[in-house]
Amino acid sequence: MHVDIVPVGDVGPAVKREASTVLREVYECDVTVHDSQAVPDDSYDESREQYRAEEFIDLAKRVGAGGKNIAITPKDLFYHRRNYVFGLAYLGGSGSVISTYRLHTSSDGGFSQRSAEDIFSDRVRTEVVHEVGHTLGLEHCDKNHCVMNFSPTVREVDQKNEALCGSCSRDVL
Ligand SMILES: [Zn+2]
Ligand SMILES: [Zn+2]
Repeated sequence: MHVDIVPVGDVGPAVKREASTVLREVYECDVTVHDSQAVPDDSYDESREQYRAEEFIDLAKRVGAGGKNIAITPKDLFYHRRNYVFGLAYLGGSGSVISTYRLHTSSDGGFSQRSAEDIFSDRVRTEVVHEVGHTLGLEHCDKNHCVMNFSPTVREVDQKNEALCGSCSRDVL
């Protein structure tokens, strides 16, 4: 498998590096990082002041060179009636997206011994693995520590491992 990471907007080198590394580790796949793309013009919703996640998936599919292509963006994404999403993917599709916008908050307790930067990096890694997992056909998993567990807030993101649980991993690896 080859995953192409498609940065959309201003994505820092550390985010690209974390995403590439974790995808290689978890899925044992080839990973490339595409040239940065401009944010799609028509993806912005003025009334919400947020961006439509679907358009980023379409862009990743259109320009990506991989069998799976994941857009990474600093923009705040929404999908249908959900207030925001950390990411989005269609089950078994070739494209997905994650947003780093809401992964920066370090207000959740319990991690005081760790830097905000480390917490942010872990969240990026977890969410990238999660969305690519959906494109491999994995649905949400009810195990709290599995990367495929659903995470409505960063609190759940922080509880997860960046790896698939035994049964999820049997389904894809
Ligand atoms: Zn999900
Ligand atoms: Zn699982």
